[in-house]
Amino acid sequence: MPELETVAASLSIEMNVTCPNEECGSFINLLNEVDTNGYDHDDCGELAKQMFPRNGSHDDFECDSVVCSQCKTEFNVKGLEW
Ligand SMILES: [Zn+2]
Repeated sequence: MPELETVAASLSIEMNVTCPNEECGSFINLLNEVDTNGYDHDDCGELAKQMFPRNGSHDDFECDSVVCSQCKTEFNVKGLEW
């Protein structure tokens, strides 16, 4: 029987929202500074650690003062759908 190869897995996460400005509607990945006007919302794992809440639920997921790179609209995010 041939020996099986072993490879490492790589985890890729996206937290996507749509810009609430109806004239913009840009697709924004909260984990990508390019989408959030250069701001790192996951500094210190602030967003990632909300993926596995110790207490509460994903309804409590929050990300405040997100700025859309495209239209500069500022908005808050509440809740995370899996
Ligand atoms: Zn926008």
